[in-house]
Amino acid sequence: MKRVLFFILVFLACGTVVLAEDFTLTKTAVEQADVFGVMRRGGAGKSFQAIFRGDTVNSFSLGNNEIAFIGIHYKAKIGRGRVSIVENGKLVLDAVVTIVSKFPKREGPATSFNLTIARNIEKAHQAIKEACERSATAPLFTEVFHWPVASVKIHNEPHGYFGASRGNRYHRGVDLESDLYDTVRAVNGGRVQLVGNFTKTLEGNTLIIDHGYGILSMYLHLSNFLVKEGDVIVPGQAIATVGKTGLQVVRPHLHFMIKMQRFSTVDPVKFMEFWEEYK
Ligand SMILES: [Zn+2]
Repeated sequence: MKRVLFFILVFLACGTVVLAEDFTLTKTAVEQADVFGVMRRGGAGKSFQAIFRGDTVNSFSLGNNEIAFIGIHYKAKIGRGRVSIVENGKLVLDAVVTIVSKFPKREGPATSFNLTIARNIEKAHQAIKEACERSATAPLFTEVFHWPVASVKIHNEPHGYFGASRGNRYHRGVDLESDLYDTVRAVNGGRVQLVGNFTKTLEGNTLIIDHGYGILSMYLHLSNFLVKEGDVIVPGQAIATVGKTGLQVVRPHLHFMIKMQRFSTVDPVKFMEFWEEYK
């Protein structure tokens, strides 16, 4: 992985030279649905903010390091974006991150369903949206993220990958190969934000864990829930069992999704790669 040091472009008014070689940018080119971070290695507690395309992301401490990371929505506009690092209200570093295209630009019209199903879908989507809106600002986790199932294999590849074509839609998560009633584990610490009995929608039984920092993990097509809304979750806790609930689901598998900055849907594979490299 490239770790690119970036340089001070701004002099502070007082004339103090800020030594900022401890900042690294994990990627300078990202795809749609990708994840990148700004690291301050060995700088735990020395907080900063990263601003990217109008989104301000606060850093947090993880181990010895201070870290801020940003998810690129799968529909994000392609092209260059400036990432600015701000410390104590002052701009200390500036760099450019380029978003390259990964998915076709347009989605076709949504598949039409009968009125009852359409209403169920609408209700479920509203509940999911509200759950995401309530994500805590501060991180509710203190360690790196892990996959929710014991052995990670993409189900029915390539159709199980993020961004795979589903008629007029894109697949906005990954399908993990699993057997019926396999244990689903929380990918990190957090709080149960939604227990959704959505059997009459495409999602099926859905669990959402809020990890704070605008990060939410979502688990779909579940058979049983092992937790309830508001429960505080420890990393790796058994939270549900794999199922095949939801319309159009033919075989048991876990549809797993990640949202960052509350509403940026990113590729869970990219998200986990970020943590692999961070370890
Ligand atoms: Zn899926």
